[in-house]
Amino acid sequence: MPSMEISTTLCDHPVADERLAEVLADPGFGTHFSDHMFTTEWTPERGWHDARITPYGPISLDPATAVLHYAQEVFEGMKAYRHDDGSIWTFRPEANAHRMVGSSNRLALPVLEADDFVQAVDALVTVDKRWVPDAAGEKSLYIRPFMFASEAFLGVRPAKHVTFMVILSPAGAYFAKGVKPVTLWLSTEYTRAGRGGMGAAKTGGNYASSLVAQQEASAHGCDQVVFLDAQEGKYVEELGGMNMYFVHRDGRIVTPATGTILEGITRSSIMDIAGKMGMSVEEQHFSVDEWRDGVASGEITEVFACGTAAVVTPVGSLKWDGGETPEVTEAGEVTMALRQALVDIQYGRADDTFGWMHRVC
Ligand SMILES: *Cc1c(COP(=O)(O)O)cnc(C)c1O
Repeated sequence: MPSMEISTTLCDHPVADERLAEVLADPGFGTHFSDHMFTTEWTPERGWHDARITPYGPISLDPATAVLHYAQEVFEGMKAYRHDDGSIWTFRPEANAHRMVGSSNRLALPVLEADDFVQAVDALVTVDKRWVPDAAGEKSLYIRPFMFASEAFLGVRPAKHVTFMVILSPAGAYFAKGVKPVTLWLSTEYTRAGRGGMGAAKTGGNYASSLVAQQEASAHGCDQVVFLDAQEGKYVEELGGMNMYFVHRDGRIVTPATGTILEGITRSSIMDIAGKMGMSVEEQHFSVDEWRDGVASGEITEVFACGTAAVVTPVGSLKWDGGETPEVTEAGEVTMALRQALVDIQYGRADDTFGWMHRVC
């Protein structure tokens, strides 16, 4: 049940219809933002208060604001989809809400109840519904909820003033020219998460630590970086922002077990869809040697990565210092079937048998 009182102040100079049409024709990713934003603030005395939708714009922060120094921050990433009848839907928003609770606990941030999270997203998307592109070409409205330590102080302790916001950004198809396999770089110098660390939390710090490895990947002509476990440097964890899947010759599909990886909602949805399609899915430790040998012997027939932004991305090859797997130039059959099944549910073209879709307006 909606429990938050949200005040709304509408923007008096929204982006003109003509300009918006231009933006939505080719939105790219993460560069255009809608007319409004959602904000609510927390203190120990008052809890969450002052929920509001206001015109989108810069916020002012004291230079001592804690997040700028100690990175006490968590975020989420999800999408709103327009169906053919014009209705607008999100995909498993309560899963994002619950994941944010887990991330908040790890970062010593206050809990925003799942119902309030969903209500905030619904309210903002409804106000800015003209920013949801039509479904043609897999466009969507990317939703970025985030929470950060907004208290101005330089001591090291959990902040006593915290801000939660939601912003919206129209997103084009990740693969504008059709789904193409990506090349991955195996990082042997850097890891993204250790035991007891914050690998399972969706927090900016994990991305900050991945950037230098991503630079290394780009320098080697690769699109993305693969991280191995920090303990033995042997088991595949994930990419900077996507989980991984390995399809075996016998139809079995394997995904790295959780613990130090970020538990993707796409990852878990793929598991359910694959199960329903009759494939067996195993979560287990999967070594980079099994990957290299499996691709060479034909035991592994397809590799793909998944996450909200790119949905499902086929992997063409893995490169490392001194070698690479044979390059695959076409997306695999299983990869594309899983991708299609997921996208069809999200865009309302297939029955939502799992009850994943949430109608916003
Ligand atoms: C967000 C994220 C993912 C993908 O999660 P989805 O819920 O599927 O979008 C995977 N890995 C990392 C590190 C992430 O931050």
